[in-house]
Amino acid sequence: MTVDIKTAQGTTDYNAIVVGAGFAGLYMLHRLRSSGLKVRVLEAGNGAGGTWFWNRYPGARCDIESTQYSYQFSSELEQEWNWSERYAAQPEILKYVEHVIERFNLRDDIQFNTRVESAVFDEASARWVVTPTEGKALTAQFCIMATGCLSSTNLPHFEGLESFKGATYHTGQWPQQGVDFTGLRVAVIGTGSSAVQSIPIIAEECKQLTVFQRTPNYSIPAYNAPLTDEERDRIKANYPAIREFGKRQFLAYDLQMNEKLAADATPEEIRAECEKRWRLGGLYFYGAFADLLLDEQVNQTIADFVRDKIKEKVKDPVVADLLTPKSIFGCKRICADTNYFETFNRDNVLLVDVSKEPIAEITPTGVRVGDRVYEVDAIVFATGFDAMTGALNRIDIRGRGDLALREKWAAGPRTYLGLTTAGFPNLFTISGPGSPSVLTCMITSIEQHVEFIGDTIDHLRAKQLRLIEATEDAEEAWVTHVNEVAAGTLLNSCNSWYLGANIPGKRRVFMPYVGFPPYVEKCNEVVANDYEGFRLGAA
Ligand code: NAP
Repeated sequence: MTVDIKTAQGTTDYNAIVVGAGFAGLYMLHRLRSSGLKVRVLEAGNGAGGTWFWNRYPGARCDIESTQYSYQFSSELEQEWNWSERYAAQPEILKYVEHVIERFNLRDDIQFNTRVESAVFDEASARWVVTPTEGKALTAQFCIMATGCLSSTNLPHFEGLESFKGATYHTGQWPQQGVDFTGLRVAVIGTGSSAVQSIPIIAEECKQLTVFQRTPNYSIPAYNAPLTDEERDRIKANYPAIREFGKRQFLAYDLQMNEKLAADATPEEIRAECEKRWRLGGLYFYGAFADLLLDEQVNQTIADFVRDKIKEKVKDPVVADLLTPKSIFGCKRICADTNYFETFNRDNVLLVDVSKEPIAEITPTGVRVGDRVYEVDAIVFATGFDAMTGALNRIDIRGRGDLALREKWAAGPRTYLGLTTAGFPNLFTISGPGSPSVLTCMITSIEQHVEFIGDTIDHLRAKQLRLIEATEDAEEAWVTHVNEVAAGTLLNSCNSWYLGANIPGKRRVFMPYVGFPPYVEKCNEVVANDYEGFRLGAA
């Protein structure tokens, strides 16, 4: 495909186009504007917030504490915003997003209801031509994909789905006006984080809930609670130290990490630490021992502790056994819940195991497994996302020589630092594959990427350079390194979305980079060594 630049005539030309108005796109806009750039953000939704705009399912709530899962680039913002709960619910996060937009006067530079269809690098003009599904193409020197890691929903193929007479929903595309399940028989398909959060709420509201589970998940009670004025004041007074400490942590936030090895601990010490983690709740369990995701025997000892807790919560031993995961603890992201396992003690909740016999079809009135049709009025697909690459591959992105990113990545994504990919000059990906992203507190990772990109663009402008592009060699070395680091952990030992294993036909490659501090160190080294691994050019 060649780009006729004339098709872009009459359109507005920008210094930078940012695709997506989630946390990444909003801060990117603010950062580039502060350098004096003319920026346009293109957003598919009719509002900002990215993942928090689309995932409005009942019970949607962040599993990282609000005082860590928030921007840190502005101390004024930190001080003026009051989080109401330990873990913010989706509506509160969206209010925060709106506040940020107003406070930094971002709205006028965001074009809503604009889904990008293609982004093509025109070699003659060295500019990106970004074309939405409707409306005019825009051109810019830099194109920044802030399209999110979990924004392309996965709806698996179910025979007969179109024949279903009731309503269907995907947790990742929840109706803005909400859904009333009162008096209805509801099916939830999937038992990942989204299902674990929504199932307890839907069960309370609906007449009958049937949950179709293929793989059970580890979930730890979140112990969400309101934040008191004293707690908020204490955090606000200590924000700089809290943030600095967080950035030095492997997952980019304070997990109260225990640096000890379970392999060196007595069974009593392991039990005591697990009890402590259980009380801390949610993802704090990742911080139990430094070898939790390195040593399979240690992992299974800790998994046994959690399995016993699950069995204590569920009254029916058959259901309890079905809900108990057998896999590596933490290999799939662990969930943080409120009353998830307890919900299966309710009379109106039924668990259907589809691990051995999959869902055969959706009929006009229900979900069939084997000979039995489970009659339902509504189906909720909590079936996850085509993670990390899905949103990028949905856009026809073309670089030098008309190379399509989809083709380049057919055997798995290839990036340098998760920020750039060879053959695609002046294109950046925020929290792209090969960066720590989904293994960290996303906002902290996003801020690091935005600042890297902003500083890089400042550098190019100061040196009167027009182009930056990763070299093939640097990319090759980075891809190898990302794989080697993951291979040293237990993280790639199960069918997780980190590996793309949830999408039929997707090449299995462990996509995120394990370890925030070494990643940041590498980025800083690259800059200090005059953008080592990049080719910088005048034209
Ligand atoms: P997910 O973890 O990928 O879970 C999808 C679920 O759907 C899995 O249980 C999967 O089973 C099931 N499934 C998929 N295809 C199926 C089929 N054909 N038949 C039956 N079951 C099927 O997706 P998610 O729950 O939306 O979560 C994705 C990620 O988003 C999380 O890991 C987390 O990082 C993030 N998230 C965070 C929060 C939070 O902050 N609290 C909340 C929600 C999501 P298998 O496991 O067998 O594939």
